[in-house]
Amino acid sequence: MIKRIQILLLLVSLLSFVACSSTGGETNNKSAAHSKKENTISNNQAEYALAIHGGAGTMSKTNITPEKEKSIKAALSKALSVGEEILKNGGTAMDAVEQTIIVLENSPHFNAGKGAVFTNAGTNELDASFMDGATQNAGAVGGVTIVKNPIKAARAVMEKSAHVLLTGEGANQFAREQNIETVDPSYFHTDRRWESLQKAKAREAQRGDLSPIDSPFKYGTVGCAALDKNGNLAAGTSTGGMTNKRYNRIGDSPIVGAGVYANNNTCAISSTGHGEFFIRFAVAYDISALMEYKEMPFQEAANYVINDKLKAEGGTGGVIGVDKYGNVAMPFNTSGMYRGYVKPGERAVAIFE
Ligand code: ASP
Repeated sequence: MIKRIQILLLLVSLLSFVACSSTGGETNNKSAAHSKKENTISNNQAEYALAIHGGAGTMSKTNITPEKEKSIKAALSKALSVGEEILKNGGTAMDAVEQTIIVLENSPHFNAGKGAVFTNAGTNELDASFMDGATQNAGAVGGVTIVKNPIKAARAVMEKSAHVLLTGEGANQFAREQNIETVDPSYFHTDRRWESLQKAKAREAQRGDLSPIDSPFKYGTVGCAALDKNGNLAAGTSTGGMTNKRYNRIGDSPIVGAGVYANNNTCAISSTGHGEFFIRFAVAYDISALMEYKEMPFQEAANYVINDKLKAEGGTGGVIGVDKYGNVAMPFNTSGMYRGYVKPGERAVAIFE
C-alpha cells in the first residue's frame, strides 16, 4: 500500500514537473516572440520621419534650368527643415504636416496656394485635404478661391466641423468664419501659370477637343506625410488642380483614400498625378490596404500600386509617404517628381529618377 502511494506521489510530482516546464517553456517562447517583435521594431524604427512632394510630371533636365532646379530644391529643403524642427522637438505629425505644406503653398514654384494653376475661366480654384492617422479623422476643401493656405482650411474642417469635405462658396465662408486668412483672388496670379493657361488653350484649340488633361501643364501639387515621436501618422495634400480645368472639376487631392490617407496601423500618404485615375483606383487607400490585409511592406505596396497597377491603366503620377516604422516610400511613374524626406541622420531632395 505504502509502495503504491509512493509510486503515485512519484507520478504526480513527475507530471507536475513536466507541466511546469512546459508552462515555463511557453512563457519563455512568448517573451522571446515579444522581445523579438520589439527588437525588430526598435532596430528599424525611426524616431520621426517626414516626406514631401511638390508634384510629379513630365519634368526633364531639358525643361528645367540649373537655376530653377536649384531654387526648387531650396524650397523643398526649406519645407523639410520646418517640418523636421517640429518633429525633432516632439511636436505632432499633424502640426508638422500643416506647417510644411504652408511653406510649399507660399512658394510660387508649386501648384498650390501662391503658384496655383488657372482654370479655363482664368480663375484659381484650390483643393486640399488633411488626415490624422491616430483617429482617422479627415477634413478637406474643394474649389476654394480666397483661402491663402487651403491646408489650414482642410485641417479646420476636420477639427471644427461635423463634416469631411466642403466645397466652393460654402468652404470659403467656413474659412472666413474660422478666421483663416483670406486674400483677394488676384493674390494667386502668377505670370508663369497664366502663360501655361494660354498655351494649354492654344493646344486645345489646335487639337479641337475640350480635354483639360494636357500633359506639359498638368502637375505640381504639394503634399506631406509625417510620423511623430509618439508614433502618430498624418498626411496632407494641397493643389490648384489641373491647368484649364472646367466645370468646377475637382481631382483626387481633397478625396480621402485617393489623394490622401493616414492610418496609424499602416502608413500616411499624399498623392500627385492625374487625379481622375487616383480617384478611380483609390490609390492612397489601396497602398494602406495591401499593408493591412496582405502584410505587404510599405515600399513594396506603394511601388506595386504606382508602377504596376496604375501604370498598366495609363494613370500617371506618384505618391510620397511614411509608414508606422518611419520607412519612406516615394515611387512615381512619370519622368520626375519634386520630392524629399528627412529622418534622424538622413535627408534628401530630388527631382528626377
Ligand atoms: N492630382 C492633382 C489633380 O488631379 C494634380 C496634381 O497632382 O498635380 O488635381
